[in-house]
Amino acid sequence: MLLDGKIAIVSGASRGIGRAIAISLGEAGADVVINYHSNSQAAEEVADKVRSFGRQAVICQADVSSHDEAAKLVKTCINEFGRLDILVNNAGITRDNLVMRMKEEDWDRVLEVNLKGAFNLTKAAARYLLKSDAGRVINISSIIGLRGNPGQCNYAAAKAGLVGFTKALARELGSRRVTVNAVAPGFIVTEMTQNLRDDIKEKMLADIPLGRFGQAEEVAALVRFLAGDAAGYITGQVIAVDGGLAI
Ligand code: NAP
Repeated sequence: MLLDGKIAIVSGASRGIGRAIAISLGEAGADVVINYHSNSQAAEEVADKVRSFGRQAVICQADVSSHDEAAKLVKTCINEFGRLDILVNNAGITRDNLVMRMKEEDWDRVLEVNLKGAFNLTKAAARYLLKSDAGRVINISSIIGLRGNPGQCNYAAAKAGLVGFTKALARELGSRRVTVNAVAPGFIVTEMTQNLRDDIKEKMLADIPLGRFGQAEEVAALVRFLAGDAAGYITGQVIAVDGGLAI
């Protein structure tokens, strides 16, 4: 299969887009380390799904915003599987508010999880990715990082930060055959988006050329492609999966 024998870590894989990515990579032949923050039961269900494809899966609790816990997550992967080929930096949160009302802690937390979390994991993973024949870093950014959104200055800054991180890292690791790309989802139906006000959802829907919200599996399909050998000459790119919202 496409990813036979590859080893992947997916952060924030207990729910939503991360869940779909972990399952899709497992279906394509990868063994997967499924990271979660608080929901061990949901993570275990994802692991069972990956195992149903005949692949190995382990779950690992870690707060990616912590340097030490991110390092522990990578160590778990190395202890279990001996190597690492694919790192998907997916874990993310929102703490929305207008900038005048935004609490300092909400700014900090979103940057710590969404941006520093990717740095923490990548730093710990880099030396193993360099040993892989075809290392992959895939960062889940957002079209909000490309076009902004009122009430999401913290989130937009973190996601735009991931774009810069992706391009710089692609230049750092390219000579060792490691590709680094960002995926920028639009409005995807997950727990993160389900609590948005109906009027905001309707406004967004009116702006989407394809006329519908996206599914987590549609983001996972791109991640799976980027993880495979066919994407070996693509690096430093930001690719939207958004039904045309960011056009
Ligand atoms: P979600 O349904 O809220 O799931 C978030 C995941 O991240 C959960 O697995 C959660 O684990 C994990 N997580 C949260 N904080 C963490 C931490 N400190 N350390 C490790 N894991 C943590 O979100 P989603 O919609 O799937 O979003 C996934 C990614 O796509 C995020 O980076 C998000 O910004 C991005 N994105 C989403 C959309 C969208 O429309 N949904 C659009 C653009 C970009 P627990 O379940 O264990 O708490």
